[in-house]
Amino acid sequence: MIDSRRKAYLDAMGVELWVSQVPAALPAREKEQAVEAELPASPQSSELPPSVSKQAMAGDAPPVFEQIPADAYEEPPLTEEEEEVDSVFSGVSNLDWPALAERVSACRNCALCESRTNTVFGVGDQKAPLMIIGEAPGADEDKQGEPFVGRAGQLLTAILKAIGFERDQVYIANVLKCQPPGNRDPHVDEVAACQPYLNRQIELIQPKLILAVGGVAAKNLLSTDQSVGRLRGSVHEYVPTGTPLMVTYHPAYLLRRPEEKAKTWADLQQVWRYLREQADA
Ligand code: URA
Repeated sequence: MIDSRRKAYLDAMGVELWVSQVPAALPAREKEQAVEAELPASPQSSELPPSVSKQAMAGDAPPVFEQIPADAYEEPPLTEEEEEVDSVFSGVSNLDWPALAERVSACRNCALCESRTNTVFGVGDQKAPLMIIGEAPGADEDKQGEPFVGRAGQLLTAILKAIGFERDQVYIANVLKCQPPGNRDPHVDEVAACQPYLNRQIELIQPKLILAVGGVAAKNLLSTDQSVGRLRGSVHEYVPTGTPLMVTYHPAYLLRRPEEKAKTWADLQQVWRYLREQADA
């Protein structure tokens, strides 16, 4: 896969190291098979989860349903707070791209709106097979309104090129659309306030694969506390949209720990293989 053009990109990333380490870093066929085994199979509608089938099959007699008056189903009225949240997010899941972008740029759902310069919506091909999701905008992104434009972003662009993607051939977004002060980790309420926007973006793009870059993105997207080291190498699922998801290190981490670039290169090769398999299917 490494033609001279990609080698040039790798060289530009300062990773002759990668090139020389690729054969050693490449997963063995067994590992490849293990990963392939985890690829989502085509859904089989006839297969019920075991708990459901057991319940459904228990006993021969048809179930007897108690008559419950229709008004027993009436939901209690929303509290004032719930009504506010409801109205803030109402209709997000039906918005088209321009309306969604407008909603995000006017968003005041959490306190980050007070300190931001710009919202950072996302950029790239709205029909991309690969969606990259990072943590949150940094200072450069806040200034320019575009994700991954600082030093880490330049490395991400080089990494993507190494597997044959121009930046505008993928879609790039973050868990948060606004920069947290001092680049601190996102708070739970901030993630919750932004999630409907990200979910709508994923629904509109329908990527074949999400690549979560960095532990913060991975943990928030997968609702887990596991480290990138444990999460990488497998195909997970972003449950709200049912999208396959893989994890790799954040480019900012790679700038601090260049010796980890070989692992990222192996991850990106898995991404490339996965997408090729999807395209062939
Ligand atoms: N780090 C991220 O996670 N996202 C960006 O957009 C920039 C830096």
